[in-house]
Amino acid sequence: MAQYKTEAFVLGSRNWGEADKIIQLFSREKGKLRASAFGCRRPKSPLAGALQMFQVLDVTLNEGERVDTVRQAAVRKRFPMLSSDLNAMAYGAFIAELTLEMMPEGEPQEQVYDWLMSVFDVCGERNPRVVALIAGWQMLELSGVGPAYDTCAHCGTHIDGNAFFDAVEGGALCPHCAEGIPTAKVYPDAVRDFLKMISKLDFASLPSFHVKKEELLGAEELLLYTLDELLGKRLKSVTFLSQLG
Ligand SMILES: [Zn+2]
Repeated sequence: MAQYKTEAFVLGSRNWGEADKIIQLFSREKGKLRASAFGCRRPKSPLAGALQMFQVLDVTLNEGERVDTVRQAAVRKRFPMLSSDLNAMAYGAFIAELTLEMMPEGEPQEQVYDWLMSVFDVCGERNPRVVALIAGWQMLELSGVGPAYDTCAHCGTHIDGNAFFDAVEGGALCPHCAEGIPTAKVYPDAVRDFLKMISKLDFASLPSFHVKKEELLGAEELLLYTLDELLGKRLKSVTFLSQLG
């Protein structure tokens, strides 16, 4: 059975069998992949410490017919805030779950891999709620489903002033085109300017900036609505965040 090494984030796991786990990795070389880790829930397992959420591993796997198997794993990088601060952890879980939902299986995504490294770094240093919001919108673009921000998705008109937004229609809508679309959401110009600004931010050198509460809330509401429409379900991490309040 072929063996390979890769560098990968742990982005999810579920218990399986008596002492095993199925883990979801996002690797530099192969993109998203699932792997079984036998015995890793036993305290003395050499895998137990490594296979923790958010950690970056140097991992050796055996290729399997349906799912690969973790043979060895060493921690390459930890994000201490993501394991010690509940708020950072909860927003980090949103970013992890969204990455797993949006990325295809088995295809290398090096740009997204490097992006995620910067996002998790910043999530421990800056307001995790704002980091998750920016990451959520940027993930739409990285997945090729970024919405139109300032041109009407129907008629292509440049949009000035307050307008509308519909995730199914492809983003911004001018007032004229939105007339026949009852599901279109209100899209204030301040939220549009904010979305345009954050869509261009580089997590590797994130400038400091101030967010007004109504822009934050407006951008969050539109993001959650867009994700609900795209995925056809609500992410578990979003439900958890809403319980945190
Ligand atoms: Zn239009």
